[in-house]
Amino acid sequence: MAYRYSTAVTDCLFCKIVAKEIPADVVHESDRTLAFRDINPQAPTHVLVIPKEHHSDAAALATADDGLADDVLKAAHAVAVQEGVAETGYRVVFNTGAGAGQTVFHVHAHVLGGRNLTWPPG
Ligand code: AMP
Ligand code: ZN
Repeated sequence: MAYRYSTAVTDCLFCKIVAKEIPADVVHESDRTLAFRDINPQAPTHVLVIPKEHHSDAAALATADDGLADDVLKAAHAVAVQEGVAETGYRVVFNTGAGAGQTVFHVHAHVLGGRNLTWPPG
């Protein structure tokens, strides 16, 4: 299914990045996903992977019944391979809800790697 441009949400930062109204350092793109470097990186590799279609968080993405969550996960892995962290280990994080630290309400997977990542997260 083609990306539906009509789903762009006014005043959504990441929809604006998809629409190229705001610049981003894009590292990977597929039909339905976009990946760009986090503006405030927490690791040598810190890339955000988003569906081009607007869904507010991972819970909403999980109920998008068209394989979109699959596409985001596959893109996250492709980014890890491309960034050279797939072998050493990387983390894929969806902060879901303000209580978990979500600040941008267009679902995004953080792909983090390139340093030792401790567990549990803070
Ligand atoms: P979260 O707190 O999980 O919602 O993550 C939002 C992330 O978006 C943070 O890590 C921010 O540093 C990042 N961010 C905010 N604005 C931009 C931007 N214009 N370009 C790239 N990353 C951004
Ligand atoms: Zn959006």
